[in-house]
This record gives sequence, C-alpha cells and structure tokens, in this order.
Amino acid sequence: MSAVTKHLRLTPIDSKGESADVRPARRPIRVPDTLVVHEIYVSVQGESSFVGVPCTFVRLTGCNLRCTWCDTTQAFKGGQRLQRSEVLARALSFDTPLVELTGGEPLLQPGALPLMKELADAGRTVLLETSGERDISAIDPRVHRIVDLKAPASGESHRVLWSNIEHLGPRDEVKFVLADRADYEWARAAIERHELHERAGHVLVSPVFGRLEPRDLVAWVLEDKLPVRFQLQLHKVVWSPETQGV
Ligand code: SF4
Repeated sequence: MSAVTKHLRLTPIDSKGESADVRPARRPIRVPDTLVVHEIYVSVQGESSFVGVPCTFVRLTGCNLRCTWCDTTQAFKGGQRLQRSEVLARALSFDTPLVELTGGEPLLQPGALPLMKELADAGRTVLLETSGERDISAIDPRVHRIVDLKAPASGESHRVLWSNIEHLGPRDEVKFVLADRADYEWARAAIERHELHERAGHVLVSPVFGRLEPRDLVAWVLEDKLPVRFQLQLHKVVWSPETQGV
C-alpha cells in the first residue's frame, strides 16, 4: 500500500549546521492514504437497528475469514485502489445521513480508521460492520460498531476476538447469524456469560438464509425470553437472495 509519510516534529538545526537534538529520530508515522474498494452504492440498511434507513455503503475488498454461509464472496478479491480522499468524496456524494463501511472485513485496511473519522467529521452517522476477529478498540468513538460473533456453523467461531467485548458500549451492536439449534445455544450462552445485552446497545440474532427457518428462531427467542432483537437480512426479502450491490 502506498502511503503519505509525516514526521512528528521538526528537529532544530544549530549554526554549525548540526542537529541540536541528539536523540534518535522517531520513526515516521505512516498515514494510509489509499483503500481497495469493491463498491460504493446507496441502498437501505439491512442488518442492524438502523434497518430500513437509506444508507451509503462503502464495501472494502478482502476478508481473512471464510464463513461457510458467506454471501459476499465476490468481495474477497479484486476491487479498485483509490485515494482515501476520493473514497470520502464518493461516499459523501450520495448525500445520505448514514454511511456504512462493510466488506469483506473493513478493518484489514488501515485506511478504514481515518476514513471513518473523516466521515464522522463530515457530520455523517457512521456504521461499521466487522467480523469480530479484528481489534475494535482504536475506532473513532462516534462510530456505531456492528460486531459479528461467529457461531460454530460458520466454521470461524474459533476466530472470535473475545477481548473486543470489553470495548463495547451503548452505541454498538452485537450480531449473531445462526444456522441451527446448536448455533442458537452457543449464542444464548455467550449472551448470558458476557451480559452482552448490558454492554451493547443491541444484540441482534438472524437466521442464515435457507438454513434455519425464521419462525423456529423466533420461537426459541420467545421461549427463552432472550434479550435480543430478531431480524432478517432485509435485502434478501426485498431483492432476490443472489442480488449483489444492494
Ligand atoms: S466475515 Fe463476512 S465477508 Fe468474511 S467470510 Fe465471513 S461473512 Fe464473508
């Protein structure tokens, strides 16, 4: 990745042309100025407490997980490397109050952090969808972090970064996508053990499309009085399940 290099401070030079500061120079800060972008588009938010609200999506390329039921495999590769300033301008050009960074896994690209800050500086409500495998602690506190906790049927539950739970706050949302009863019981245990409904603003559960009957998941939630919000992947109801870029 190309990068702009900035130095923390200038070192004064004395009359003999020598540096007045004998301490070793600090390493330059590398400010990531490009991002690899799969697509930028406007739609309605589909999987959070913001469901149904018009939203600009910035989908970044690349993911280090391989969930068995992943529906965005097209974002694993390809995309276009753009200057961060151009990504920002394109995202703002859709003029929606809500902007979401998604993927793939957006946090694999260091430029995602300054981009989220710049979007918030521009007055946007910023959402981040992340797999729950990357550290979320350095994200701008104005960002609503939607953190997946990958259940066993995803094949990636061993990748959950449980230390992220310490960083959750009322602005954040935890999301479980569940494929079967075993996944549900795993999620229920995690919610109870970590009191996720006390830490995060919302705990979301949804069925894997075509794998778990929505009515079964609703019945289990009601039976257990689980403190969660049930949801469906809205774009699969509005459009066909295979439609991309919506
Ligand atoms: S984390 Fe998301 S993008 Fe990556 S494999 Fe899993 S579902 Fe797909």
